[in-house]
Amino acid sequence: MAGATGTRGAQDQQLSETFLCNECRGKYFIKVYTFSIRFKEVDFSDDLIYDKLEDERYMCGACRATYSQTEVEETLRRAKRRIRAEK
Ligand SMILES: [Zn+2]
Repeated sequence: MAGATGTRGAQDQQLSETFLCNECRGKYFIKVYTFSIRFKEVDFSDDLIYDKLEDERYMCGACRATYSQTEVEETLRRAKRRIRAEK
């Protein structure tokens, strides 16, 4: 399981959950990118077909653990379900 949430704040009946780093519980993240190209060999040709892939991740400002956007969204979705179940 990736990520955790914590530091729940309640204000004017509004609840919020903050995504926390799974390693160090830090809450500040920096956007980082990886760039790669994927090659495909094509029959009857010396040409290579390639796709450029760009991947965006979030890196913990404290311990440099990285999380994908999907992991962050999944964790926050779970928190939402948990809050709803507690009510
Ligand atoms: Zn961290």
